[in-house]
Amino acid sequence: AKEHGRNTYSFYTPTLTIAANERLELDARLRRALTNDEFVLHYQPQFDSMTGMLIGCEALLRWHSPEDGLVPPDRFIPLAEETGLIVPLGDWVLQTACAQHKRWLDSGLPDMVVAVNLSARQLQQHDLAERVAAILDNTGLPADRLKLELTESMIMLEGDRAIERLLALKALGLKLSIDDFGTGYSSLAYLKRFPIDELKIDRGFVRDIPHDRNDMEIAATIIAMARNLNLRVMAEGVETHQQMEFLTRQGCHGCQGYLLGHPLTAEEFLEQLLRRD
Ligand code: C2E
Ligand code: CA
Ligand code: CA
Ligand code: CA
Repeated sequence: AKEHGRNTYSFYTPTLTIAANERLELDARLRRALTNDEFVLHYQPQFDSMTGMLIGCEALLRWHSPEDGLVPPDRFIPLAEETGLIVPLGDWVLQTACAQHKRWLDSGLPDMVVAVNLSARQLQQHDLAERVAAILDNTGLPADRLKLELTESMIMLEGDRAIERLLALKALGLKLSIDDFGTGYSSLAYLKRFPIDELKIDRGFVRDIPHDRNDMEIAATIIAMARNLNLRVMAEGVETHQQMEFLTRQGCHGCQGYLLGHPLTAEEFLEQLLRRD
């Protein structure tokens, strides 16, 4: 029994050490990736449900790692949030998305809004609005062409300070969207207090339409509530025609998902969506 205990112990310690080492190594690689310009943005189109027109895109971060190829955000954003690297990385995302969007605008392409995901750490910055203002300024992108996506939990954690920061962001003239709506711990009361423009129905409520009655009720209720509060409502993760038809019939303004378009590089986006006639 003693032997077994010792084995368990000696097995346990190295595992923890390896995990910590791996985190340190990943952190170092991510910092190098930022200076070596290994991050890229992919853009997923968003369409008006009624007219089918392209109305915008969401910028989604990927890491083009020399060792591992294209790494999805779920594999590195949590660590970047913990270490604080998400702040400079988030600035890079905003800067790159705004600059790209300005180029598309300048070449006479359709009026679209670019949506950028914000992390909790970024919302904690007291000078967030100033940083966003500086990026709008140096890229020349009009503020009303930018939408920031935040989650309910981020807003709830920050409390009254979040209201101040969101008001400062709104004062720049941009749009605010609540991402993954319906999945966070929150009270609906914040919808009245916060200067929000859009709710984004979480993919989890869309996935099992039309098989799951409860999900259909929830999606329909979110759409009705958003409309009653004069908010726009966007569905994400739309993969089938049935889902699209159901959401549109309920009055959902916009749809995003694999049915309508995968995330694409800027070049692919231009070729496949913007130069289309
Ligand atoms: P999210 O903001 O909820 O983004 C939507 C995710 O769903 C994206 O995954 C997108 O590729 C995927 N998706 C889109 N349509 C469909 C569909 O029809 N079916 C399915 N199954 N999935 C679909 P992705 O790009 O891997 O991003 C994952 C998460 O990483 C994002 O979730 C967001 O929370 C985070 N993220 C991505 N880019 C950034 C960024 O620049 N900054 C921050 N802070 N977070 C980011
Ligand atoms: Ca998002
Ligand atoms: Ca989402
Ligand atoms: Ca999500």
